[in-house]
Amino acid sequence: MADTALMTIPGLVDPVPASRDITPRADGRVDLIGLPRPRIRELFEEAGLDAKAAKLRAKQVFHWLYHRGVTDFEAMTDIAKPMRPWLAERFVIGRPDVVEAQHSVDGTRKWLLRTADGHDFEMVFIPDETRGTLCVSSQVGCTLTCSFCATGTMRLVRNLTPGEIVGQVMLARDALGEWPKGSMISSNDDGADVIDEISDVDVIDEDDEAGHYTADGRLLTNIVMMGMGEPLYNFDHVRDALKLVMDGDGLALSKRRITLSTSGVIPMMERCGEEIGVNLAVSLHSVRKEVRDELVPLNKKYGIEDLLQACADYPGASNARRITFEYVMIKDKNDSDDDARELVRLLQAHNLPAKVNLIPFNPWPGAGYECSSPQRIRAFSEIIFASGFSAPVRTPRGRDIDAACGQLKTAAEKKSRAQRDREVAAAPLD
Ligand code: SF4
Repeated sequence: MADTALMTIPGLVDPVPASRDITPRADGRVDLIGLPRPRIRELFEEAGLDAKAAKLRAKQVFHWLYHRGVTDFEAMTDIAKPMRPWLAERFVIGRPDVVEAQHSVDGTRKWLLRTADGHDFEMVFIPDETRGTLCVSSQVGCTLTCSFCATGTMRLVRNLTPGEIVGQVMLARDALGEWPKGSMISSNDDGADVIDEISDVDVIDEDDEAGHYTADGRLLTNIVMMGMGEPLYNFDHVRDALKLVMDGDGLALSKRRITLSTSGVIPMMERCGEEIGVNLAVSLHSVRKEVRDELVPLNKKYGIEDLLQACADYPGASNARRITFEYVMIKDKNDSDDDARELVRLLQAHNLPAKVNLIPFNPWPGAGYECSSPQRIRAFSEIIFASGFSAPVRTPRGRDIDAACGQLKTAAEKKSRAQRDREVAAAPLD
């Protein structure tokens, strides 16, 4: 178990332990979450269904998993009753394990999650008046050591799987109660069906479909791949997970409501536009080589000019779908008027459909930076605005629970080396 005491915020919001059993894998069952429909069909065939039955069952199960969010095969009411235990014996419907959930005073929520093999990572939900944004992690830890980012001080443990990535979105919908409400009763729920009596007819009834999402009234409206990790270093898994999120029969979130943030992995940016097609955000943070080399060390490999050209070439970028440049405001580091003018010059030189998100630096223990003053941030923003680019200042959210941009770092990683050494010494030997 995690050391939950480290996450307590005395006098503010106590963490809510919400541990669940980790999906057992030793029994040979396969977790279906993260799998696309064709793969589910293949697995059903390998388990003994004929091709026709496997195709129909895969369609039904996919709908229940990703569109209705059920976590129990018994809830799949258009699947014949004898079939449900057959599924449960062979498959599981996983979610990341929730170790802890925290609420900020400003409504931001952060979850500490754990993979089935025991690695911790975090996701954050940021509600505001017009939208609710889920910040999703792609890796446990990160390799990129951006100096303003707490995650960058964690070692990379491993990439998250497609199931662990899409599982974050599903978990958020669980927590927010946002799965479509329908009758959950279907036309063939008489329990008398047997597997070989199924037909190719889609048996999900129209009342059920009345539970389809609309964009209105939802809490979770947007996703940003801006949590732990560099998503383009885990491209295949991120792509596969986001395809499930965007699938109209699945989580059905428009690609226009999804933004992937990269620190500038140029070789993968074109594929990101072509194969995923989501909005792009770039962690820019400086337009001067020596400063960006420090803040985003990947800059030593992929420089600013090349990065901006890759942004200009990003498939689908237009004035309607502008590229977002994230710019963390750090006192006396990157926040001068000259920095703002150089930023504008570069955006104009590359003819970029761009907007700039100014992020007041969110402090974390040992960071070694200070946030720019509000006056400095305003002056910086005004220079950019005056040149015709949007440059809103992002209001810090969830600072009290270390959920703000650049603050994600799991409790286990926050322990001191001495504390970890003591725990290892005290642990029983196998
Ligand atoms: S900003 Fe992103 S890429 Fe850089 S260290 Fe943090 S998580 Fe990694």
